[in-house]
Amino acid sequence: MALKTAWKLISVVGLAVTVQAAMASSPAPEHAPAPKVAASKPAPAAKPASTPGAKPAGKSETKTDAKSDGKTDPKSASKPANDDHGPADDAHADGHADEQDVKTEPQAAAKPAPASHADVVKAMEPDAALKLLQEGNERWVSGKFENPNTNSERRTQQATDGQTPFVTVLTCADSRLPVERVFDRGVGEVFVIRVAGNVAGPHEAGTIEYGAGHLNSRLLVVMGHSKCGAVAAACSGAKIEGNVGALVENIKPAVDRAKTNTNAEGAALTAAAIKENVWQSVFDLLRTSPELCKMVKSGHVKVVGAVCDVATGKVEWMGEHPWQDALVQAFMGRDTATASAESSGSH
Ligand SMILES: [Zn+2]
Repeated sequence: MALKTAWKLISVVGLAVTVQAAMASSPAPEHAPAPKVAASKPAPAAKPASTPGAKPAGKSETKTDAKSDGKTDPKSASKPANDDHGPADDAHADGHADEQDVKTEPQAAAKPAPASHADVVKAMEPDAALKLLQEGNERWVSGKFENPNTNSERRTQQATDGQTPFVTVLTCADSRLPVERVFDRGVGEVFVIRVAGNVAGPHEAGTIEYGAGHLNSRLLVVMGHSKCGAVAAACSGAKIEGNVGALVENIKPAVDRAKTNTNAEGAALTAAAIKENVWQSVFDLLRTSPELCKMVKSGHVKVVGAVCDVATGKVEWMGEHPWQDALVQAFMGRDTATASAESSGSH
């Protein structure tokens, strides 16, 4: 037992050293995703909304264009052949098969036969998915809803053919954050994981691996929100009993960084910690999911942070984690069992 514990400690320390080395001049505790970088330099902004299909080099844009109007028309879709997205279908498990699918689709798109609904979604580039969310959020903020894909035909189609979400969203359970409404999207479009404080433990990571890997949604959004009670609780420093206390533990590193970087107090500290906590969740996901690291590395999945203002409804996009490349490089070589065990212990 002692030996096992010692070995685990050595592994963790070794990993920390690796991450430290990868981050070169950025001294940070193991759990610190982006202290100075996030504070002094805003994370790279998400690609402009005007370039939905202009992204990943060497990848097909053909099918993206088919969805660039932001609307999915189930009626134009032929029924996917034998694609029910059931658990037995593991072709998407590591994302590589999908990469190949995507790369070969220009030829398929040139044929007269219309693409199936599932194929259209399968080919959606992350930036095109992001554009749909940005446009939908503008409608939410302005009150000009379109409520796309919310009718009974859509329900029937998705129930029959299988769900085809174009985005996975990890966000808080706060009831002022109705995700499909915030992005003005419909049935079968947004694969949502909700947990107080949008923390990323093993269950959340597993659900995300399913959404990105199996359901083939190529954009992952980790979204915090203003006035988050879970983050405020972590900022308060009060002793919190029960399972909520364990949950808040995941947020504390973000609070520590917010204090260090801003010297803020009260509501300002909570606001800073909310952003840091988004980075913390991205960090925890990459740390505990070699599968996600591989999908990010290959370009199959794009991960962006966001914060929603619950008063205005507006989503502020934070872009990719400032240290993403270094984190992926450091964590993707780990075996899933080790990463999962560590994740279980931290949640
Ligand atoms: Zn919250």
